[in-house]
Amino acid sequence: MNYQQIIDISLPLHEGTIVYPGNPAIEIEEIKSQSSGSVLSKITLGSHTGTHIDSQKHVVDRGKPLDKIALETFIGNCRVIDCTSDERSVKVETLQKNNIQKGERILLKTTNSSRGFETFYDDYIFVSPEASKYLADTEVALVAIDYLSIKQRGSKDNRPHTYLLEKNIPIIEGVDLSKVEAGEYFLVILPLKFIGTDGAPARAVLLK
Ligand SMILES: [Zn+2]
Repeated sequence: MNYQQIIDISLPLHEGTIVYPGNPAIEIEEIKSQSSGSVLSKITLGSHTGTHIDSQKHVVDRGKPLDKIALETFIGNCRVIDCTSDERSVKVETLQKNNIQKGERILLKTTNSSRGFETFYDDYIFVSPEASKYLADTEVALVAIDYLSIKQRGSKDNRPHTYLLEKNIPIIEGVDLSKVEAGEYFLVILPLKFIGTDGAPARAVLLK
């Protein structure tokens, strides 16, 4: 396929990477050094670290783990939706205006991207339960959001997750869309091939 540009929308992973409160921090320890012939590190991280994918198992009892989702879901045409006018949460009206169709891969760009990912803040823009239901009812292929969770910080209302994951629509969290304008792209996001897990970190790029 032809493309002019690769836009990396993944968060950098290092010991200072922000994590959602309560998740394990990234630890990278060199357990062999050059003096022993080669450098080798032990890396500790949570399944929802950095740019990552939530599978059904994350919130659904006996739900599908990530390795049971076909890779075709994560590779293909996608659309970045401008939600930067939405305050507090992504609204149904914004999605309706954008005429979202069944089978689309939808990336929601909010003001989270311009705020950056250097420090964790509680009042990030999340996806409202109604907007999540709209995307689930529309039967999109996947939904990505530019912060570490799709639901409101500290809220017991888990519907932004459950509406989508109950329909086995994967959620990508932690994409950095600061360098991306709304529009159509080709998405490649490949989760590490962990077996049986509720989620996994992934490298995500947009081709244009
Ligand atoms: Zn997650």
